Amino acid sequence: MTATTPRHLTYAEAHARVLAAAPRLGTEHVALRAAAGRALGETLMAPHALPPFRNSAMDGYAVRAADLAKASATNPVTLRVAQVLPAGRASTHALAAGEAARIMTGAMLPELADAVVPFEEAERRPYEDLHDEHCTVRRASRVGDHVRAAGADIAAGEVAMTAGRELSPHDLALLASLGFAQLPVGRVPRVAVLSTGDELLDLGAPLTPGTIRDSNLPMLAQLVEAAGCTVSVAERLRDDAAHVTARVRAAFEASDAVLTIGGVSAGDYDPVKLALETLGNIELWRVGMRPGRPQAFGVPGGKLFYGLPGNPASVACVFEVLVRPALRAMQGHALPDRPRVPVRVGAIVESRAGRTDFVRSALAWRDGTLWATPVGAQVSGHLVPQSRADALLVVPEPAERLEAGDAATAIVWRMVGA
Ligand code: AMP
Ligand code: MG
Repeated sequence: MTATTPRHLTYAEAHARVLAAAPRLGTEHVALRAAAGRALGETLMAPHALPPFRNSAMDGYAVRAADLAKASATNPVTLRVAQVLPAGRASTHALAAGEAARIMTGAMLPELADAVVPFEEAERRPYEDLHDEHCTVRRASRVGDHVRAAGADIAAGEVAMTAGRELSPHDLALLASLGFAQLPVGRVPRVAVLSTGDELLDLGAPLTPGTIRDSNLPMLAQLVEAAGCTVSVAERLRDDAAHVTARVRAAFEASDAVLTIGGVSAGDYDPVKLALETLGNIELWRVGMRPGRPQAFGVPGGKLFYGLPGNPASVACVFEVLVRPALRAMQGHALPDRPRVPVRVGAIVESRAGRTDFVRSALAWRDGTLWATPVGAQVSGHLVPQSRADALLVVPEPAERLEAGDAATAIVWRMVGA
């Protein structure tokens, strides 16, 4: 098979090959605050318990529950307030029988205290005696009332977070509590984006007969960044195989991955297709999906090459279902794909057995159900349906059509409110 004899694959085969072949970039350490959105590089154990010490869940009185076991409206019990404990100050002596400690939320319980009575459930009696404050309680306490036990959140040595998790701000709160100032995270891929086409204009250049504006390059650059990568090169290339070959080689010098747009189909001047002959280790693909059938993929020299087709819908779709997963796998994400959400189909969709369709669709809630309705004709050169779409409705490979009302799944770009 020469580089320009296309290999035919189903979408599932292409997806599996891309994920298996995408080079993993390894990890680096970054400050906790810089780690949001990154993939955790190793499984982390809790170095200590959370909470680290027994503390009060309320502002109130730390007590010995046994002292209040028989307290009631008819049998009020008065305790001497022997200590005051703001949050952050550790108690230096144990609570004696008949004593209470004024304690603030989060403060460490004194030794031998085993319950907290909230201020609302006690009467403060400061003036009964010149020297001492007292409190009176009119209901029974049980051991553990309003006490946060040490280790109740997580025990020392327990798995705090598993490798490959995409770190959310909430995850960072847990890891900050456990004292991780630096976190191991997957390296950020440097990705080159190169569009091809003699018909393409710079932004702002006036339209002339036969020319269009380059809409894919700005979209792809943004998609690459939104997938957690940095754009190392963004460049438009002429339809000239030698030029494309040279620029792809140069882009690889500065990048972990090179993405090209256009020039991989059956046209006479398709430059990426021609460049594959000399680049080596890249295959021309025909993937059983729509949009986006013609593609090129390989891992030359251990770096990722992805040739996307030129039509805007194809770029968006191939990026979403194949390239983005590859770029996330490179970063170590355990879940490289966006989750698929169950939907009902808003209008009939024609497909073909053996082809997976990704249909640009609008989402809406009706009767507690999320409906996905195709936006306009699914012409892969059209930009309006793409801009209006909230999701890609998936027509699975064996299905020849989906009827209105059928159950299906969608890849959600923009969730809508009920
Ligand atoms: P190609 O695969 O190069 O033949 O491109 C397929 C279609 O997509 C053609 O109509 C191209 O003009 C169009 N196209 C290719 N690249 C871009 C781009 N970067 N921006 C907008 N349209 C493009
Ligand atoms: Mg072209």
